Order: sequence, then structure tokens, then C-alpha cells
Amino acid sequence: MIEFKFNNKKMQITSDVLGKLTSYIQVSGNYEAGGLLIASLVKGNYEIEINDCTTPIEEDKRSLLGYRRSDKHNKILNEKWKESNYKKLYIGEWHTHPQNIPIPSFQDKTSWKKLLSKSMTESEYLIFIIVGIESLEIWIGDKKRRKIERGASYKY
Ligand SMILES: [Zn+2]
Repeated sequence: MIEFKFNNKKMQITSDVLGKLTSYIQVSGNYEAGGLLIASLVKGNYEIEINDCTTPIEEDKRSLLGYRRSDKHNKILNEKWKESNYKKLYIGEWHTHPQNIPIPSFQDKTSWKKLLSKSMTESEYLIFIIVGIESLEIWIGDKKRRKIERGASYKY
């Protein structure tokens, strides 16, 4: 489990989700992977627990240096939302990079900014994760301020 604080908010990523994300680490020619991050807001919105995610499916377009998520991920998210009695919601995105310590590309930053302005979710923050070979890096986007900042870094 990863736990860190951001603007006095406690954020957690469960070991179940960590296990899923790190199973896609891009070693030995593995294709890029990605998906949606799903969370529950707990204790009256003071804590964000990332406790679910979507993972690559057949309909996605994957290559060594690219990943295009299919719309089906949104369907899966919708199902999880209903199943959880509307408690599990969209909180952001994750994808892999074939870099030891991953850094977001220009394209990543552009798409994150777009998501900050158009995403419909109850959470005031969006979380973006890049899974590298040696570490997983977390960025947090503030929807009101339209700002993206470093959240945390986690070495395997
Ligand atoms: Zn990227």
C-alpha cells in the first residue's frame, strides 16, 4: 500500500491496485499499458482511497511506445460504480512508460490538463500515475486551480 498526503488530504493506493499496475511494468519488450483509476472518498471527502482500476483489454490499441484506451473502459467504470452503490468513482488515469523513472511526455501533460477541465467526477482532485521500470510516479491535478503537481514517488 502507498500512503501520502497532499494538501492535508490523505491519499492511499491499495496493494491490490499496486499489484495490478506493477504487473504491467514495461520490461523485456512489453507493450504500453494503461487504464482508469477508481477511488472511494472516505471520511467525508478527507481521504481518497484508490481501490480499483481498469486494466488493458483486447479493444485497446497497444504498442511499445503508445497506448490508446478503448471506450469500453468507461463501461467497466460505470458497472463498478453501480455495483459499489455509487461509491466508487473515477479519479484519474494510469499508464506505463519504458523508462526507469518515468516522466510525463508533452502529450501526457496536454491530455491531463484536458481531463482536469472536462472530467465529471465528485472528487476535486484527479490522480495521474505513470508506472516505470524502477518506480511509480504520481501527479495530482487540482480541478479548481487547473494545476498539476507532483504527488509522490514509489520505488518497487
Ligand atoms: Zn506517457
